[in-house]
Amino acid sequence: MTPLLEVTGLSKTFGAREVLADVSFAIEPGETLAVIGPSGAGKSTLLRCINLLERPTAGRVVLDGDELTAHGRSERELAQVRRRVGMVFQSFNLFPHRSALENVVLAQVHALGRGRAEAELRGLELLARVGLSERAANRPRQLSGGEQQRVAIARALALDPALLLLDEPTSAIDPELKREVLAVVRDLVADGMTMVLTTHEMRFAEEAADRVLFMADGRIVEEGAAATVMRAPAHERTRRFLSAVR
Ligand code: ADP
Ligand code: MG
Repeated sequence: MTPLLEVTGLSKTFGAREVLADVSFAIEPGETLAVIGPSGAGKSTLLRCINLLERPTAGRVVLDGDELTAHGRSERELAQVRRRVGMVFQSFNLFPHRSALENVVLAQVHALGRGRAEAELRGLELLARVGLSERAANRPRQLSGGEQQRVAIARALALDPALLLLDEPTSAIDPELKREVLAVVRDLVADGMTMVLTTHEMRFAEEAADRVLFMADGRIVEEGAAATVMRAPAHERTRRFLSAVR
């Protein structure tokens, strides 16, 4: 199979600081990859480089055969690229003065030029899918963190992305509300969505992801089948991390 996403030799430096160093991996269509590792390992920067929110210093990102990192892309082309890669942030990033439904609708109208009626129909369908039909008219502040994150997931899905990136989707959410967000992500896994997610939920990473990639200090330490990396890691650094967080 051709990988849906191929990352080759990705590096990112901020000034003199090397935050990502020669990161390479690929994912097949329908696969979920969980990226784990200590704080500061470069997980968020990796996701931000994949959708070019951050320009990599070196390396290639190829989505479905199209090199996103190709030189000379205009801002307009970059915007098109980002549309194909959905992103869900730790802090939701919803428009505070818009309803849940409007948050999902506006993305479609602005990014895809979809008509309002179609966008609303799709928005309601996606809010139902994340279990929030009853909350369509509520503004973010009237929603729990778990509900806000589910709106953010619906908004990302509304653009029909080829790939979905989720950066610690549950880490800003009260423990008792995490489960409903994780259930939505599990549904996406079952549905065959291709995803890269970062998480500190080790049980979830093991259960939901096909593969796990462990990073430390901007480098991949090891990568493999989720059960293997989580239960029988090959590297001492991975073992130390896992025993500290479990
Ligand atoms: P993680 O998500 O694994 O916690 P990050 O990707 O957020 O790690 O950060 C990795 C390192 O890069 C950290 O040391 C962080 O301080 C640094 N970093 C991230 N973004 C920037 C930036 N815009 N400028 C300078 N340093 C940054
Ligand atoms: Mg992070």
